[in-house]
Amino acid sequence: MIYLKHPPKGWQPPFCPNEKCKFHSHLKARWGYKRYGSYIRKTDNRRIQRFKCLSCGRTFSTQTFSTTYWQKKPFIDAMIFSRLVNGMCNRQIARDIGVDPTTIDRKISRLGRHCLLFLTVMGQNGPTARQIVYDGLETFELSQYYQFHHNIAVEKGTDFILFFNDSELRRKGRMTKVQKRRRAELEELHGRPDPRAIEKATKEVLSEVIPPQGMVTFYTDDHPQYRKPIRRYGNRIRHEVTPGRAHRDRNNNLWESNLTDLFIRHSGRNHARETIAWSKRRQSSTEHLAIFAVWRNYILGRRQKNRRSPTPAMERGMLDHRLRIEDVLECRLFPGQVELAESWRRYYRRDVVTRALPQERRHRLGYAQ
Ligand SMILES: [Zn+2]
Repeated sequence: MIYLKHPPKGWQPPFCPNEKCKFHSHLKARWGYKRYGSYIRKTDNRRIQRFKCLSCGRTFSTQTFSTTYWQKKPFIDAMIFSRLVNGMCNRQIARDIGVDPTTIDRKISRLGRHCLLFLTVMGQNGPTARQIVYDGLETFELSQYYQFHHNIAVEKGTDFILFFNDSELRRKGRMTKVQKRRRAELEELHGRPDPRAIEKATKEVLSEVIPPQGMVTFYTDDHPQYRKPIRRYGNRIRHEVTPGRAHRDRNNNLWESNLTDLFIRHSGRNHARETIAWSKRRQSSTEHLAIFAVWRNYILGRRQKNRRSPTPAMERGMLDHRLRIEDVLECRLFPGQVELAESWRRYYRRDVVTRALPQERRHRLGYAQ
């Protein structure tokens, strides 16, 4: 069920959807509302029940609680989701479904926001991870001059993606004289990324994945900026370092990270090597990654060749079945009820700036979130 096509008889709105209303929180009892007429939905000519909150006066309907709230073409969300994680770029998806590319961009961004909330809400029910592999996926936004890492923490033994964020990097690697000059010009114009970006991002990752009690084994490569934030945890973290140059096969301690990277590069067009469909902004790259993480953790079996293979979430005992895309999109989640990590709040608001581009439309919380 993608949206509440047939709200069950006697369906009751669980809370007031108005962020500013004191009855927005699940926990408040004695909320009063009344039925407030109905309207005919244009997409399928069904009658939709309307309600009115007796506290704040906001009117809403059964549709307000669906992820497709305020959308003209609600059925295409699941189609976009599946095409995106199966390696199609935004333009191909637009051609395939027969809608405008800007619609696809907007919808992916909205799906990405929903997935950030979904990952957070679902993650709260998970067990504590004690074996964590952490690495940076190297990629770039706009052009090779703007490199960044997606820093990703994965649970060892289950492949469950625990958390991710990003850090902007200065272009490195081999460069010609002309390229070096160009880099200097661009840095003069747009400034340089924070040289401690990875250290700061790692600090956030640790604050999200290290439990308040007990010991965790944390597997990383020998990146020097990991050391300081990890040391702050003293003997609560057993830090296992594998040299970055070591051969990366199944026997390598960072295997889960390598596998996740491979998967991301294989299933998303934007990170494929030598791609022409790279992300113009790391904001969009992150939205894409959130969608990928939901797919990887909850929808896809761990082993591609075995159709009954459990998902990472099943492997950790969080669920006893695979989810379908439709299940993920069934319920609308409200940002006012979910406590997002600091960087995820920025992703949600679309506050991540690509240096060389003018600021794109940010996301202000409104009716259609
Ligand atoms: Zn209200």
